[in-house]
Formats: sequence, structure tokens, C-alpha cells
Amino acid sequence: MKIADQIQQLREELRQHNYQYYTLDAPTISDYEFDQKLKALQALEEAHPEFEDPNSPTKRVGGTVTKNFNTVTHTFRMYSLDNSYSKDDLEDWEKRIKKRVEGPVEYTCELKYDGASINLTYEKGQLVRAVTRGDGVQGDEVTANVKTINSVPLHLQGDFPETFEIRGEIVLPFEGFTQMNAARVEAGEEPYRNPRNTASGSLKLQDSAEVAKRPLDCLLYSIKAEKLTIATQFESLEKARSWGFKVPKEAKLAKNMEEVLAFVTYWDQHRHDLPYETDGVVIKVNSLQQQEELGYTSKAPRWAMAYKFKAEQARTQLEAITYQVGRTGAITPVANLAPVTLAGTVVKRASLHNADQIAKLDVREGDTVFVEKGGEIIPKIVGVDFQERDPESSPTAYIETCPECGTALVRAEGEALHYCPNAASCPPQVVGRIQHYISRKAMDIEGLGSETVTLLVTHQLIENYADLYTLTVEQVLPLERMAEKSANNLIEGIEASKKIPFERVLFALGIRYVGETVAKKLAKHFKTIEALMGASEAQLVAVDEIGDRIAASVVAFFASEEHREIVNRLKTYGVQLAISEEKLANQTDLLQGKTFVVSGVFEMPRNTLKKLIEDNGGKVSGSISGKTSYVVAGENMGPSKKAKAENLGIPVISEDDFMQMIR
Ligand code: AMP
Ligand code: ZN
Repeated sequence: MKIADQIQQLREELRQHNYQYYTLDAPTISDYEFDQKLKALQALEEAHPEFEDPNSPTKRVGGTVTKNFNTVTHTFRMYSLDNSYSKDDLEDWEKRIKKRVEGPVEYTCELKYDGASINLTYEKGQLVRAVTRGDGVQGDEVTANVKTINSVPLHLQGDFPETFEIRGEIVLPFEGFTQMNAARVEAGEEPYRNPRNTASGSLKLQDSAEVAKRPLDCLLYSIKAEKLTIATQFESLEKARSWGFKVPKEAKLAKNMEEVLAFVTYWDQHRHDLPYETDGVVIKVNSLQQQEELGYTSKAPRWAMAYKFKAEQARTQLEAITYQVGRTGAITPVANLAPVTLAGTVVKRASLHNADQIAKLDVREGDTVFVEKGGEIIPKIVGVDFQERDPESSPTAYIETCPECGTALVRAEGEALHYCPNAASCPPQVVGRIQHYISRKAMDIEGLGSETVTLLVTHQLIENYADLYTLTVEQVLPLERMAEKSANNLIEGIEASKKIPFERVLFALGIRYVGETVAKKLAKHFKTIEALMGASEAQLVAVDEIGDRIAASVVAFFASEEHREIVNRLKTYGVQLAISEEKLANQTDLLQGKTFVVSGVFEMPRNTLKKLIEDNGGKVSGSISGKTSYVVAGENMGPSKKAKAENLGIPVISEDDFMQMIR
């Protein structure tokens, strides 16, 4: 076969698989096979730059850096939507419609996805441009970033018009959002606040490779073109779907207002079952002919109406604002509330985020405030009932010194949070670092809990995690709630932690941005702590998936005399600061490229099984998806997991089968 045909064929195959996986959620090949094909295509494209295609599937990984986004004027203005909040509002809207158009009116009901709106332009079936809504007249061109979103087709199929635009919403589904946040928290970073802002922030990142890493999705809802042979909104959704776009199946055709109301009621109750955030439904007059007759007001179409779900809100008193100091020194203001029921749970605390937020809301102690539960996990304060305000009160003065150690706080240019710079002796930072060290995913020290760590620090028995190894039974016995048995357990647990492998020790050290995964990568690459301590930023960045930020943080950590001393002490106590010989000998690539989900109870401890997978080059994942290669099932595997594996056609194997694989 000619090279050009080979390239063409691979592109076509990859497009199809990409569509199966991301748009239909029904993959037909394994992740590994996909990667192999992608690699083959990459190699061919590199060797033959003459066949360059800006919409090749290899472009999904990103890599373009945009310093300034171009401003683009929309061909068709991107209007806003009128809002309604009740059945009456909708019925009034229908009356207004019936004054302007003849005959029966049908409606398409859709969900109102809460993300960032986007306008995509296609010419001859190729994505040529992606522009944000901006002010509705002009937006920013973010094509390179949008190309990395897997559910955005770069290349269409079927009977698409020669030139057209299509609008949709870029969203960050809850699952991906939670995973991103878990990774951030683990690395000592602030979690993102909500999926919507994270989605719109992602579109404006300069490095498209960063965007590619975010699990964004694109849901489409409207086609715009000079001439269209389509007669209704509902039909246009079906068409868009047939061309390869992701159009949620929840959309429904309603014959009358009654059916519209049924749709609204249903989704008001069931919206929490959706994988992404919604803030209402959008109802559109179905006939495009009638839409044209209705036209637009200065800000919104007359033929569409958003129905906003009520955010669950409560009113209560703000008793006090307190400040928490995290393990990295970050200060978080917390609103302490008079207990109130919100969305079925009693709420006593709410997030105030940072100094700017407090100033923006002008919230003061003693105020009556409105609390809302949105996409966030922690409820937030959305406003103050100013009528109830004590006229004698004065604006909240944000603290200037650390509530725990009295050190003057700092706030770096462009950062939202204040920090206590006294890392060495600010108690919550000292305690927090040790608590992190002993935590389950780090050194997993049995017999030592977070509260005991606090006691040990306040009784000045320890100042850092290296001090743990000098503790004696006699020293800890006098502590509150300690008995002979628990004291012995504690010391034994500390002793046992000397067997914890290097990669977990590395995570336990609490280097900023070095989460579990990064620690594994670093341990595998450098093999000893000396090699890692001696590495320059350039050497670190050369490691797969280690970026500038992590590299700088690692170098800064080991540049500190104090940190080096603590690490040296750990070594003299016998903590694992190098990959073990045995481990080096046991590592294979047998499971390279395979992803495993482990479910149920096994002969060997679960962690051993997971370690075996990783030592042999495989990956362990928590949930079954199209990317899973095998499910290793033990006793009592959950029935829903089993059904999911069967549905996706993923082989379910036993512990014995697994052991055969690595033998
Ligand atoms: P608003 O920003 O409240 O004026 O609402 C208008 C925005 O809703 C549009 O710019 C879209 O980004 C968004 N939207 C979400 N889902 C839909 C949908 N199904 N149809 C139309 N607009 C939608
Ligand atoms: Zn402090």
C-alpha cells in the first residue's frame, strides 16, 4: 500500500475508534490497541511531513502554545436566553408566542448544560475554528485547545452541509472533576472550586497539551447556517448526532406545554443522576419556520426559554469567621453558621474561599446570610440579607497574622490565598506534614492516628517525621488515652514503616506537587534518594510527565538544609530510600499498556495484588471503563461492576489467571 493510503487508513480507523469511545461510550478495541495504532500513525507522519493534516487524530494530544487568543466576530450573534422560574412564566411565554405565530406549536426540550459555550465552524466536514461566546458579538479563538477535546469531531461523517456553525457547551463531568481535584489535594494544591469555572478556565490555557489532560466533554445543541434543509430543532439535533457530534439523548420533543412541564418536573428531580452539571432546561420552539417568524429581542431569541432550577438555598446566621491553616500553610476562611437544613443535610459550616470573596460579598460576623449548595461539595455563602444587618457593624478585616503561630501572612502576586510562611514551626503545618507522612497512602503507620500526632507535637516529643523513629514506649506511655498495649503498638508500627518501599516514602516526604503518581515515576527513574537529590531541574523535566512546576518544587525541597538533614536521618534509621534489589529484579514489562480493575476479596492482600500489577508494568484503575483491559475478580465482587464489565465486553479473570499472566 502507498504511504499516503496507509496514513489515510490509520487516520480513518483512529477517528472511528475515537468516536466509538468518547461520543458513543462504546469502544470496540482496547486502549492498548488504540495506542499502538496512534503510535504507528505518529511515526508515519513524522517520516512524511508532506502528508500533514491539522485535523489528524495525532493532533489531539495538543502541544501548541497560544500567548494571545485572536478576537473573532461571530457570523451569527450568540444570544443569551430569557429565564423563567415557574409554570406560570412558561404559560405566559406560550401566550406571547401564540400572538405572533399561527397554528399549533411544538417544543424541543433540552437540558441546560452548565459549562462554557463554544461555537464551532466546519468547512467541507473539517473543524476550522472554535470560538468562545465572549460578549456574544465577539469571542476568543481557542481552536487548538478545543481540538484536544476528544468528543469534538475534527472530521465529520454523513450528509453535512458544506459550511456551517454548531454551538454547544464545554463541560467537565463530575467524575473527571473529582479525579482532578483528588490529584491536586494529594499534591498539596488547592482544589478547583466547581466544574463550570474549571471548564471555562481550561479553554483559555496557553498550553494545549495541558488542556488535553483535562477530561473535558463537548455537548452540542444548535446548528447555524445560511441555508439549511432541516425543518425543526429536534431534527437538527438528530442530524448533528449523525454527523458525529455528541448530542445528549435526554432531549425530547413535546407536543404541547403540558409535555414541556412534565419534562421540567422530571429533570428538576433527576438532574443529580446526570454525569455533568446542569442548571435548568432549555425549551425551544421546534419549527425553524416559526422560530424565524418569532425572531429576537435585543438580547435573546423569542423562540427559546431557559427554565432555571432552583438552587437549594437556606438563610441562617453567620456566627463567626474562623481561619484554618493547611499543611502547606494555605489559609482558608471558614464561615461558622447557626445550624440549618439544606438539601436534606444539616449545614454548620460554609466556605468563604479567600479575602477577595469576603470583600466582594461584604459579609460580616453576625450577618444573616444565604447559603447555597451548587456543584461544590462544601456549601457556599452567596449573599447577605442587608436588611438584617446591625448598623453598628464594620467590614470584616481579614487577618494579617497566622492564627496559629502569629507570623505575618504573605500573599504572592496573582494568588488568591494568603500563606503562613513559617513552615518550620507553625503548629498545624508541622502536625500536618507528620500526619501526611503517617497516612494510609504514605507510610501507613498502624497504631498512630492523627490525634496522637497532635499530642506528640504539643508535648514536644517530636518536631518532624524523622523524630518518630527516636520515640520510646516510656515516652509515649504518659500521653492521654495511652495504655501499655497501644504504646507498644505505636512503636512497633513505626518500626514496621521502615519496610515501606521507596516510592511511598517519597510521597510521604510531602514535597509540594509530588503526589502518589509522581512519586512513583520519580522513584522508578532515579532509583535512589541521592540521585534524586542531585538532579537538576533539567534532569527532572526530562522524566516522562514531570513538568517545570514539579521539577522546581523538588529542587527547592532538597535545597533546604533542614530537609536534607531530615532525609539523612531517615536513612540512618533504616527507612527505604532506594528501590530494593528485589524490586528491581521483580520488575517486568509483561503487563505494559494494560489497565486492571481489582474487585472483591482475594487470597493475597489487595495491596500486594495491586503492587504486582504495577511492578509488571500494568496500571491499576478504580473504575471500569472502556479503557479497562481486565477485571481481576475476587470473592464477592460487586454485581454492578460485574454487569458493567460484561456490558463493555471486558474479560473478568480470577486471581489464578492473573498469576499465570505474570509467570
Ligand atoms: P445564559 O448564559 O443564562 O444567558 O444562558 C445562555 C447559555 O446557556 C448559552 O450561551 C449556552 O451556553 C447555554 N446553554 C446550555 N445548554 C443549552 C441548550 N441546550 N441550548 C441553548 N443554550 C444552552
Ligand atoms: Zn503559622
